[in-house]
Amino acid sequence: MKIYDIIIIGAGPAGLAAGLYAGRARMKTLIIEKQKNGGQIVITNEIENYPGCLDEETGPSLIDRMVKQTEKFGVDHVFDTITDCQLEGDVKVLKGLHDEYQAKAVIIAAGANPVPIGCPGEKELTGKGVSYCATCDAAFFEDFEVYVVGGGDSAVEEAMYLTKFARKVTIIHRRDELRAAKSIQEKAFANDKIDFMWNSVVEEIKGDGLVESMVIKNTKTGELTEVKADEEDGTFGIFVFIGFKPSSELFKGKVAMDEKGYIITDPDMKTDIPGVFAAGDIREKSLRQVVTAAADGAIAAVQAGKYIEEHE
Ligand code: NAP
Repeated sequence: MKIYDIIIIGAGPAGLAAGLYAGRARMKTLIIEKQKNGGQIVITNEIENYPGCLDEETGPSLIDRMVKQTEKFGVDHVFDTITDCQLEGDVKVLKGLHDEYQAKAVIIAAGANPVPIGCPGEKELTGKGVSYCATCDAAFFEDFEVYVVGGGDSAVEEAMYLTKFARKVTIIHRRDELRAAKSIQEKAFANDKIDFMWNSVVEEIKGDGLVESMVIKNTKTGELTEVKADEEDGTFGIFVFIGFKPSSELFKGKVAMDEKGYIITDPDMKTDIPGVFAAGDIREKSLRQVVTAAADGAIAAVQAGKYIEEHE
């Protein structure tokens, strides 16, 4: 069986940047992706906050170029779901649904996913009014109305960020009290642009190509209300912040993680297992963006190269 120098799990910006650096360093490199290259960024229609991306850049177009760039440097790509792994020792073994893979070093770049509401219409309208990232999408709602779902620190902080763009921000929370820290709550209550819809959950999101309305259920009375877009606007934004989940299930008990399941690394992206690195959103860190994921990937690949050199 072919033993790769480096296997990268995940073809989002972190994994692809790692692939680029590993490929350019002439390492035999394989990127394994479960479903679709790109990770969370492929659900973003426009990218304004990655350096060098101008008007026509979309998530898919940026990822497409990143994939081509790795191929130019001889990186192999395969679609497979890894179901088991053995990360200790000099040769790491990854078992997939279709095949088994071996490498001297592994970079885990499997990402994290926002927890969805799970209501009808949400999936279809993601990137068309439904968003899970205010930093990425707030600017598209300049002077529009937006709704934020959730009551934790993320929801309330992101709602405040959104007030810089939207003309009105309504927080939809399932209880009548926020979970967010008191200091964050106080700022939100003092902000005239923020309104609250208490004891409420989103039951359905509707729209033909763009969000046009949503059905809200009162958690106390069960009453359903339809919130429609302002006629002149025709649409509004729904930002969902009800928690994030790292895609780290497979590595539980194998690499060190924090209590939420994010993999702990040092600044060189090293995990607690020699030869195993983590990069991007799966890592315990403060800012999860394309630019930080790509930077992590580059560092992980260079460090994985050093690790291999030292072990040969
Ligand atoms: P979180 O603290 O888990 O809050 C999730 C919020 O979403 C809660 O208000 C929860 O309601 C609500 N929720 C959960 N499932 C829901 C559902 N199915 N439908 C409707 N609402 C639902 O998540 P987070 O805000 O993303 O924060 C994650 C962690 O990061 C927290 O530890 C937080 O303190 C930290 N964080 C810190 C900062 C900061 O310090 N500046 C900023 C962001 C995040 P309930 O309240 O009813 O459970």
